[in-house]
Amino acid sequence: AAKSRQCGSLIYHAALDAGSQESLSLLSELRRAVENNELRLFLQPKVDLAQRRVVGAEALVRWQHPTRGLVPPMQFIPFAEQTGFIRMLSAWVLAGAAQFARQAADAGLTLRLSVNLSTRDLMDQDLPAKIEALMAPLKVPAETLCLEITESAIMDDPERALSTLEHLHAMGFKLSIDDFGTGYSSLAYLKRLPVDELKIDKSFVMAMERDLDDARIVRSTIELAHNLGLTVVAEGLETIKAWAMLARLGCDEGQGYYISKPMPQEQFIDWMRDWQA
Ligand code: C2E
Ligand code: CA
Ligand code: CA
Ligand code: CA
Repeated sequence: AAKSRQCGSLIYHAALDAGSQESLSLLSELRRAVENNELRLFLQPKVDLAQRRVVGAEALVRWQHPTRGLVPPMQFIPFAEQTGFIRMLSAWVLAGAAQFARQAADAGLTLRLSVNLSTRDLMDQDLPAKIEALMAPLKVPAETLCLEITESAIMDDPERALSTLEHLHAMGFKLSIDDFGTGYSSLAYLKRLPVDELKIDKSFVMAMERDLDDARIVRSTIELAHNLGLTVVAEGLETIKAWAMLARLGCDEGQGYYISKPMPQEQFIDWMRDWQA
């Protein structure tokens, strides 16, 4: 069945077969991808729903493969996580996001850049020092960077994750729980985590217009976040109706195709000026 799928899926498939010839060559291809500058940083805007103002952007990686074309992250991120290559990839994304934050600040724009981290990153004791080292020379304040972490990445080893997150938070970085509602995190942990933001998973947001249960989940999550003093972001905002509904429920920020798909970072500042014009 795997063979009949589109060619991008083959990459992901090889990943499931760890130790295979295919997976070894994918690892060397990924290493080459970094050396040959084949990774691309895409940015997707995050908008303040009440004020319609762009407040930030999420960094999302793509692989501009010489023969396969633009490969989406789900085709290589899971593999990168399994092999530990994700640490190198995360370092690349963090550096790119920090550089973009500098560029935006130079253009007179205040933007918060969000970067996705995985379990492996959270298990890396040196992560806070590594982030500090790449931010310091750029002279961008720590709160310009927001680190998005899924519940499952935290629940792999909650105590260790908590210690890394506390360290990062003490350094001034913003922390966000991604895909909220899809993992197994307990509310007890949520209470202990030093997070600033909660992102409602797009599955709920995309279904809320037609499914009353999803609408209720979205409403309760917004309430929960606000009761805990957190900013709440809805991802998967695809329609103007969803925007109106979320704004009415008091959701702070939105991100989704209705606003914009992720775009190459080179286009972002122009896009933002158009949007706010
Ligand atoms: P995510 O962190 O949940 O990122 C949001 C995903 O939802 C992105 O997919 C984005 O393009 C998509 N999305 C945003 N708005 C909409 C919408 O309105 N409708 C729909 N249908 N989709 C929307 P993308 O870029 O393909 O990334 C998929 C996942 O890959 C991300 O999910 C994240 O888990 C992972 N990923 C991407 N870049 C990185 C990275 O640099 N590092 C790590 N560790 N993971 C990454
Ligand atoms: Ca994310
Ligand atoms: Ca998400
Ligand atoms: Ca996700």
